[in-house]
Amino acid sequence: MSQQLFGHRYILPVHQGRGAEQVLFPLLINEAKPLVLGNMHFDTTRAHIQLAGGEGIDLVIKEAYQSANPHPFKGNIDLTQLSAYLEKEGDRVAMIIMTVTCNGAGGQPVSMTNLKEAYQLARKYNVPLILDAARFAENAYFIRQREEGYTHKTIAEIVREMFRYCDGFTMSAKKDGLVNIGGLLGIKENEEWALECQARLVAYEGFPTYGGLAGRDMEALAVGLTEVIEPDYLEQRIGQVRRLGEDLIKRGIPIQQPVGGHAIFVDAGQVYPHIPKDQFPAQVLACQLYMAAGVRGVEIGSLLYGRHPQTGEDGCSPVEFLRLTIPRRTYTDNHMRVVAEGLSAVMEGSGEHKGLQLVYEAPILRHFTARLKPVCS
Ligand SMILES: *Cc1c(COP(=O)(O)O)cnc(C)c1O
Repeated sequence: MSQQLFGHRYILPVHQGRGAEQVLFPLLINEAKPLVLGNMHFDTTRAHIQLAGGEGIDLVIKEAYQSANPHPFKGNIDLTQLSAYLEKEGDRVAMIIMTVTCNGAGGQPVSMTNLKEAYQLARKYNVPLILDAARFAENAYFIRQREEGYTHKTIAEIVREMFRYCDGFTMSAKKDGLVNIGGLLGIKENEEWALECQARLVAYEGFPTYGGLAGRDMEALAVGLTEVIEPDYLEQRIGQVRRLGEDLIKRGIPIQQPVGGHAIFVDAGQVYPHIPKDQFPAQVLACQLYMAAGVRGVEIGSLLYGRHPQTGEDGCSPVEFLRLTIPRRTYTDNHMRVVAEGLSAVMEGSGEHKGLQLVYEAPILRHFTARLKPVCS
């Protein structure tokens, strides 16, 4: 089933997306090839790159950082920068990872043209290109909506073409697999990689027939992969996110536009111009929204970004977003109105809100377990 959908010869199940990263990355990253270029790496992806001794470099187009810029494919990689990097440091590049949709930028899609040209560059410099395909169907939906030449293609056809422009993929099935747990690791044709991945899979995940999943989870995934490419499903799903975005825009709340596939990104830097980045304005907004309305958002800013590797300084993230991720098939549009009203209420008192400082942070992926307290002044 998934071989047919993605067109890759080898498909290995894993317990979730990071399982696939853990199995694949150490095969490609080594001392001589530490660099991993990409549009924008997801946080666990960046962590697994680092755990394998590598360094992740984000080369997303600059429009991704301009929340009011209506560019239709803000997840695109900057091909000029990618090409310059490959020309200069190609020998040190382990792989290119294209994340579809680009989670870090707000579920922003990557165009087919951009994927194709990135893959052509990868070929030219003999560097593997891996898709981080957690939201492959949402990305295909946007290609169909926004890119010339795709309006009359089916989502399945678009997906199939997207997966031609890579050598393998990692996928969290908890997103467009429409399941509670699971993931996939795909290898397009390289048998040597597939065998090595299989061997590592046994050590880390489970036997290659189940990869740490129960049989019922695998069956649910097989169903999810067929339902997620249905146009009605995608229209309802992405439409709900879009309607919340439109409501927020009407209320004057600054968000990343156009609205992405799975989440609204509120520009907390604009909400709190008086809170410096090293006092985590997006985390402040997350806390305030939770206190006001019981709505849980996630900080995508300097807390997540971590410290500067050389100076140890905080406040380095180019964006300060509050991510409101909308679970699939869970909420009605009325729930979305509660979210919008809660945010409106928070905005009214925003001038009074204070920054935060860290009380505890883990050395890696600190944002998951950090403890913070309000800055006293
Ligand atoms: C969720 C996600 C991952 C990690 O997957 P898990 O299933 O949570 O381990 C990797 N990349 C992207 C883009 C994701 O959205």
